[in-house]
Amino acid sequence: MSAALAPRAPAATRSTRDWQAADAAHFLHPFTDFQSLARKGSRIITRADNIYLWDSEGHKILDGMSGLWCVNVGYGQQALVEAATRQMQELPFYNSFFQTTTPPAVELAELLASVTPPQFQHVFFSGSGSEGNDTVVRMVRRYWDLLGQPQRQVIISRKNAYHGSTMAGASLGGMSAMHAQGGLPIPGIVHIEQPFWWQLGRGMSRDDFGRQAAAWLEEKILELGADRVAAFIGEPIQGAGGVIIPPETYWPEVQRICDRHGILLVSDEVICGFGRTGHWFGCERFGTRPDLMTFAKGVTSGYVPLGGVMVGERVARVLIEQGGEFEHGYTYSGHPVACAVAVANIRLVQQLGLVERVKSETGPHLAKLYQGLKDHPLVGDAETCGLMGALQLVKDKERSLAFPEEQAVGMLCRAHCFANGLIMRAVGDRMIVAPPLVMTTAQIDEMGGLIRLCLDKTWAELKDKGWL
Ligand SMILES: *Cc1c(COP(=O)(O)O)cnc(C)c1O
Repeated sequence: MSAALAPRAPAATRSTRDWQAADAAHFLHPFTDFQSLARKGSRIITRADNIYLWDSEGHKILDGMSGLWCVNVGYGQQALVEAATRQMQELPFYNSFFQTTTPPAVELAELLASVTPPQFQHVFFSGSGSEGNDTVVRMVRRYWDLLGQPQRQVIISRKNAYHGSTMAGASLGGMSAMHAQGGLPIPGIVHIEQPFWWQLGRGMSRDDFGRQAAAWLEEKILELGADRVAAFIGEPIQGAGGVIIPPETYWPEVQRICDRHGILLVSDEVICGFGRTGHWFGCERFGTRPDLMTFAKGVTSGYVPLGGVMVGERVARVLIEQGGEFEHGYTYSGHPVACAVAVANIRLVQQLGLVERVKSETGPHLAKLYQGLKDHPLVGDAETCGLMGALQLVKDKERSLAFPEEQAVGMLCRAHCFANGLIMRAVGDRMIVAPPLVMTTAQIDEMGGLIRLCLDKTWAELKDKGWL
């Protein structure tokens, strides 16, 4: 036991330059311009605790992005480490293909059924969110086949949505830069405009725009013919697209439209799930009753990879009672170590009361802080939901005028954040955070101070450049 938990040789045994050289020589990073990164050199993150990271130069960084939207319980939680260690010693792997199962997978399935909305009694496990969405495509089409409606093939999604990076995930997503590479989207997936008020709806009230954006779904359904549409998929709040919080009127209207046409509703909860919005799942925050729900990231707080799809009874009953064999699955569906960590993680979220804390304490605290940031000359709009926040940087507040794209002002701001010990992500000129859910109000204030400092530094740099 002690040997298993003994620390490895510290990263300091190799220099930053040495790590960077080896990284550039052999490691092709995701979503990265390989050549430009090799020239600049990667930042080497060597350790973490609570909400802080340290790099190989010893800099301490406040992680405003929870790793990549996932480390909800923060770093260094021993309960998760111990769950993994124990499971690795007892049974590091067995599959669930051949009419077998393992205790952690069963326990997790049971626990997920208890924390998700009541229509969810079954789960299909994957290794990631992207794979979960691949499963969604297979399952939705299988469902309609079994009901004798094989022409119901089309899945409607939104522009600027993110549903992962596999062939199906990237096709469901609405990122034009991703579609431009590799011949995407795959057939049978279409996209409507997103419910992004600041970009598309500023001429009207948020509520009117929300109804308008939902109406785009119905227009598309009627254009395709409702009898050809299998499902609509959306993130409750678009994450990678820039923390785009839809108007309150949007989701209830989408639900009514799906009901009216008998179309399955899929909620991609990979980011919003497990407390991010102050509710267990984003669909509960916005009042929808999805038929399927994709999850990943926060289910294990990112300590090990795991994803899956919650399957509502409407779909599950058909698959179980009429389906025969479902010709689909992954080697790591229900991986025992990943499932053991997920069980420990969800129990920890429950013990710490994190969902309730985000709803009644830390979420409102972040909202107040963002309300204050609206005064800043660079901030054209500031919004939050639970522990997610977005700041829209603008050239001219009064006329809500955006910066020219080529100035890449968001990236300038992000560089100031890195230099001052804060990870805040830029999506165009939208600066976003999604900090660990264990964050205290004092730590939110600390993050707020860093955000304001970095906005000031960005503003000063833009003044110097004559861009304001
Ligand atoms: C991250 C993400 C995915 C993809 O998950 P991976 O684990 O990276 O495959 C899917 N949907 C949403 C909403 C995400 O944020």
